[in-house]
Amino acid sequence: MSHRVTLIPGDGIGPEVTRAAQVVAAATGVAFDWEVVEAGEPAIRASGTPLPDSVLDSIRKNRVAIKGPITTPIGSGFRSVNVALRQQLDLFASVRPARAIAGVGTRYPETDLIVVREATEGLYSGVEHWVDREHSAAETVNVITRKASDRIVRFAFELARREHRRRVTGVHKANIMKTTGGLFQTAFREMAKNYPDIASDERLVDNLAMQLAKKPSEYDVIVTTNLFGDILSDLAAGLAGGLGIAPGALFGDGMALFEPVHGSAPKYAGQDKANPVAEILSLELLLRHLGEAQAAERVWRAVWETIAERKVVTYDLALPGYTEHPVPASSCSAMAAEIARKVPLVDLSAPRPTYSAARDDAGVDKNLEA
Ligand code: NAD
Repeated sequence: MSHRVTLIPGDGIGPEVTRAAQVVAAATGVAFDWEVVEAGEPAIRASGTPLPDSVLDSIRKNRVAIKGPITTPIGSGFRSVNVALRQQLDLFASVRPARAIAGVGTRYPETDLIVVREATEGLYSGVEHWVDREHSAAETVNVITRKASDRIVRFAFELARREHRRRVTGVHKANIMKTTGGLFQTAFREMAKNYPDIASDERLVDNLAMQLAKKPSEYDVIVTTNLFGDILSDLAAGLAGGLGIAPGALFGDGMALFEPVHGSAPKYAGQDKANPVAEILSLELLLRHLGEAQAAERVWRAVWETIAERKVVTYDLALPGYTEHPVPASSCSAMAAEIARKVPLVDLSAPRPTYSAARDDAGVDKNLEA
């Protein structure tokens, strides 16, 4: 049976990295029937709007989508398509795994955590205004509801249970934002009682940022409100090795949309230069969601091997600074082709590769300890 999936190439580097994901998807042998719909700049050119109804209709119909990044002009222009998609489809849970991969420069090779972010309200509610005529003061409304807090916290505990994770950490700023933060805190405490098999604890967001920078391996699943989750998931991506390898997923009621954490990197658009891994690992998450666990595992291991070998990697993984020995940079399409070539060759009976084993074998990242 073929899986009908909505594909939104996006703009900037989006079309290049989504093409890369399609090449890798084809190598898995899983049958896909892509329904390609445009949003962002190509949609504005074609129909005058960045988010045509056809995009929303396609996702509502297919229930699953993969997307490239979409540019949001700063300060003016249209409202973020990404935020609009989340709100209109009620994609309330943003899930961002941060997993270190051998060959990517990270000082935190044990990083393996998931940030679960509430994606529909908080400071992203879009309610803001000038306070006075002189525009000398402005306000943004931080909307926190018990309903949305309950469902995101429940989602995080269910995810932890499904993925055999040991602990969920609730993150807020209830000491200062006593009403909004306090509401989220109460929802977290009460929901945790329903999951006695999973440990739970709480952190203030500023303290957690410091703790993550010191010892990310202490954390497992983190659940928090919209803005904190946005910032912490980028921090976690940086700890694991950077935006180039950070995938993401958004879940609503029976609907899922997969996309990288990174943006449209307009300065690299059309150059076949961008790292395709974050989009390819978003495909891995999509495959798991579709129940194609073996294909997903093949994709993960093929990505791992390609990066660990450092023979065919994009500029950001080839740079000096990651190891003492820079390697020539390959193109986005060449790296995708190399990952696709490896997908059918993966030996699923071999133990899953780990960062420390790869480091001991090859000394790939020895210099990072310096
Ligand atoms: P960005 O992620 O596009 O770029 C940040 C830095 O990382 C840049 O130096 C960029 O060149 C580099 N980079 C990002 N992805 C890369 C990749 N795959 N390979 C190699 N290098 C990569 O963030 P930004 O510059 O803040 O945002 C650019 C645009 O993207 C903005 O309009 C922003 O609103 C939008 N954006 C969209 C999404 C989304 O569609 N989900 C997410 C974040 C940002």
